[in-house]
Amino acid sequence: KPTIGVLALQGDVREHVHALEACGANAVPVRRESELAAVDGLVIPGGESTTISKLLEVFELLEPLRQRLGDGLPAYGSCAGMILLAGEVLDTRPDMKPLHGIDMTVRRNAFGRQVDSFETDVDFHGITDGAVRAVFIRAPWVERAGEGVEVLATVPSGPAAGRIVAVRQGDVIATSFHPEVTGDLRVHKLFVDTAVRPRAGV
Ligand code: GLN
Repeated sequence: KPTIGVLALQGDVREHVHALEACGANAVPVRRESELAAVDGLVIPGGESTTISKLLEVFELLEPLRQRLGDGLPAYGSCAGMILLAGEVLDTRPDMKPLHGIDMTVRRNAFGRQVDSFETDVDFHGITDGAVRAVFIRAPWVERAGEGVEVLATVPSGPAAGRIVAVRQGDVIATSFHPEVTGDLRVHKLFVDTAVRPRAGV
């Protein structure tokens, strides 16, 4: 079975480990370069993106992780993880260093103060057996998706209707919301399937 790392510097690591194990993966925390080198895919959890960004430097993981992503490592980021996977981040600290896993611009805390947290059902491209319950917690959205980026889900209604909240570029997936807290394993399954698929050049 595939070994999927969960970046374990800060955030809801445990929830992702549980979801991945329930999908049949071998889920391991990643805090050092040798652990990163041993995984078939990596989840970047929800949490606080500026904190995780800083810790990536402290743990000397920023460049190794950028390199593995550049080499085609499958990755999935939820919420703060989406922010970290971006090429460019709006409304963040100037010293935040994103990973350039997906050609996109992400706006942090995009939904505003009045709507810190909310839930809605979204249609998710590639998941055909019903809508996905999306839990947003001080969530980002994708402000610009590059040409090679596939939009997987948008907000269906309300003031943020049409905003992009899930994307995929190659083997890298990101969601604004937290499937790891709902018990719905379908997004994690989609990612684990991506990570086990044979890839050109691997
Ligand atoms: N607002 C957080 C950040 O900027 C993300 C919130 C989350 O991951 N639930 O990193």
